[in-house]
Amino acid sequence: MIKKRMISAIKPSGHLTLGNYIGALANFVKYQDDFEMIVFIANLHTITVPQEPDELRSNLEEAAILYLAAGLDPAKATIFLQSDVHEHAQLGHILQCFTYLGELNRMTQYKDKVAKGETNLGVGLYTYPTLMAADILLYDAQFVPVGIDQKQHVELTRDLAERINNRFDKELFVIPEPLLEEVGTKIYDLQDPSKKMSKSDVSDKGCIYLMDDPKKARKKIMSAITDSYDTIQYDPEKQPGISNLLVIAASLKKVSVDTILMETQGMRYGDFKKYVASIVEETLTDIQSRYQDIKAQNVLNEVLSEGALKARSIASKKLKEVQSTIGIEL
Ligand code: ATP
Ligand code: MG
Repeated sequence: MIKKRMISAIKPSGHLTLGNYIGALANFVKYQDDFEMIVFIANLHTITVPQEPDELRSNLEEAAILYLAAGLDPAKATIFLQSDVHEHAQLGHILQCFTYLGELNRMTQYKDKVAKGETNLGVGLYTYPTLMAADILLYDAQFVPVGIDQKQHVELTRDLAERINNRFDKELFVIPEPLLEEVGTKIYDLQDPSKKMSKSDVSDKGCIYLMDDPKKARKKIMSAITDSYDTIQYDPEKQPGISNLLVIAASLKKVSVDTILMETQGMRYGDFKKYVASIVEETLTDIQSRYQDIKAQNVLNEVLSEGALKARSIASKKLKEVQSTIGIEL
C-alpha cells in the first residue's frame, strides 16, 4: 500500500515548548508509521525575526535532537534542515510571484505585529507564508499536521496550488489538507490562558520548555492560574486555566479529556495540579533522558545529511517540473 505523504516543521526560534510537543512533535511521531512523514527544522523561517547566531545554532541543535528524543525515527521519517534543501527558497520565490499583496496582508502573524505597533518588520516575515507554501507543495504532501495557529497558512497554500494548477491547466501541485487533532491544537500560557504558549514569547513562568528541569516544570504547573469555581470541568470559556491543564494531561496520557475528568473527579485544585504536574514531570524526564543518550551518540549530522539527500531527491524533481511548466527553463 502506498502511504500518504505528510509534511511539517518547527522553527528553532527558541527552546521547544510543551505546546510544540503536544501540538506538533507528538503527532509527527504518532503518524510516522502510517504516513510517509517528512519533517524539517524550519531555520529559514526562524530568521524572519532577528536572531543571535550562536543562540540560533544552539536552538537548532536542540530542536533536532528533540525530534529524535520525542521518538521520530530516521528510518521511518525524513528529517532534515530546511536550508540544506535549496529548492525551498527557490520555489518560495516562484510562489511569491503568484501571491497577491492582499493575501499576505491578511496573514495573522504579520497583521498582529503591525497591530501591536511593531516597526522595522522584515520583508521575510511578510512573505513567510509563501515560503511555507513552498515547503508543502515541493513534496506533493497530502496532509500537514499543524496547531490551529497554522491553519490559515495551509489555506493560503491550497489557494496558491489551485491558482497555479488552473493557470497552467494541469495537476502540478497536490492540494494539501491541514490535519488538526481533536485535542491539543492550542496549548495556552499557564499564567495567561488567553494566550498561546509560544517559544518566542518571553513568559518563562507560563511556558514549559521541553528542556526545563522537570522539577521546575512541576512548579510551573503548581502555580498555573486557575479560577474560583472550585470544580474541575472542561469549559474553555469560563475556566480556561483548568481546561488547559485538562488538555495537557489528556494529550500527554493519550486519553480523552473525559477520561481525565473521570480520574480527577472531586479533587481539589491543589491535588488536580499535582496530578497534572506528575504527568508533565514524567514526560519531560523521559524525553530528556533520551535526549542525553542521542547527544552522546553524536549522530545528528549523519541523520540530517541523509534526510536532506532524501528530501532533495523529491524536491528537485518537483522544482524542475514547476520551472518547466511556467516556462523559465528549457
Ligand atoms: P514562535 O513563537 O516562534 O512562532 P511557536 O511555539 O509558535 O514559535 P512554531 O515553530 O511557530 O512554534 O510552530 C511549530 C508547530 O507547533 C506548529 O505546528 C504549531 O501549530 C505548533 N504549536 C506551536 N505552539 C503551539 C501551542 N501552544 N499549542 C499547540 N500547538 C502549537
Ligand atoms: Mg508560531
